[in-house]
Amino acid sequence: MLMSATTGVAEVPQVPETHNRVQHQLFRRSQDMPFASGFLGRAMNSVTRSNSENPEGWVFDIERFAVHDGPGVRTTVFLKGCTLRCVWCHNPESLSPRPELLVYPRRCIGCNGCVEVCPRGARRLTATGERTLDRQLCDLCGRCVEACYAGAMKMAGRKLSVDEVMAVLRQDAAFYETSGGGVTLSGGEPMMQGEFATALLRRCKGDGYRTALDTCGHVGWSVLQGALPYVDLVLYDLKHISARLHRRQAGASNRLILSNLRRIVEFGTPVEVRMPIVPTINDSKEFIDAAAEFLASLSEITAVRLLGYHRLAGPKYLALGRENTMPDVPSPAAEQMRQIAAWLERRGLRVILPPERGLP
Ligand code: SF4
Ligand code: SF4
Repeated sequence: MLMSATTGVAEVPQVPETHNRVQHQLFRRSQDMPFASGFLGRAMNSVTRSNSENPEGWVFDIERFAVHDGPGVRTTVFLKGCTLRCVWCHNPESLSPRPELLVYPRRCIGCNGCVEVCPRGARRLTATGERTLDRQLCDLCGRCVEACYAGAMKMAGRKLSVDEVMAVLRQDAAFYETSGGGVTLSGGEPMMQGEFATALLRRCKGDGYRTALDTCGHVGWSVLQGALPYVDLVLYDLKHISARLHRRQAGASNRLILSNLRRIVEFGTPVEVRMPIVPTINDSKEFIDAAAEFLASLSEITAVRLLGYHRLAGPKYLALGRENTMPDVPSPAAEQMRQIAAWLERRGLRVILPPERGLP
């Protein structure tokens, strides 16, 4: 492994870029999105309330009895805001650090409750009997969500205090004990709300819960370092080993991500690396070999988990009123996933595959 003389960060072998139609589209789309790293520092300081014993953060989901976010039965807390903009993102409602309204017209039963309660005229009934949403007028008051018994309107993002999240977690504590599970923080990028996430992890450890942090790693090292004493397992995303293609497809270079992964390993926290496999984007043997070479040089990698790309999140982009950026490519076949696992295993890495025929 080569080391940069100026930064001390491992130089990852560069691989040739494949020029094809899909990658051209991805590049164009990523240019249209807000550039992730530019707002990184400001957003991390502004999203959570500071200097509080019981900080508040923006949470968009709490999934109970989760079995794919670390060992055993877990409760996964999903925090709003992400520092990357992956074109294949399957949680588009996580990207913005602020709440967002999702509308699912196919669930609508036409009761007009949302139209009647909207104080700003943002939710309207048109002359042709359709209900529209003017997002410029909407102030996210949430009254339409409360009025919609059909579940056709949903607010992604609720401000919760650490105490309030802990009250939910306590209900599941017995399952953590019996299953070897615990609490996972995910997102979005949970460390974008560094103060809130760290306080939550600290409280979890104080209550005796095992913790996992699911991170893309594109955050300042000092933020990650502050949380690591309260983390039992890091679930670390490795999306692309090429810095240039990572920037095109995830909105920022992977340099900070690779550097932080090395530092977490040196810190001594066990790491499970998670690699989304997106056909034509990051599934070539050259990319996988380069990733394997980098990961094999790290000592605390407990496993590499492969996650097969799928397009099931497409309707969420529509519900958010946003362009669906998910690549129009099929999910990787089970045989291809086994082949990629074999390439990684040749480097001595332990690989976990998704259940065949199932989606991770
Ligand atoms: S969130 Fe409030 S302002 Fe926005 S559409 Fe619903 S009721 Fe109207
Ligand atoms: S309240 Fe829900 S079900 Fe009723 S019109 Fe509005 S979106 Fe449709």
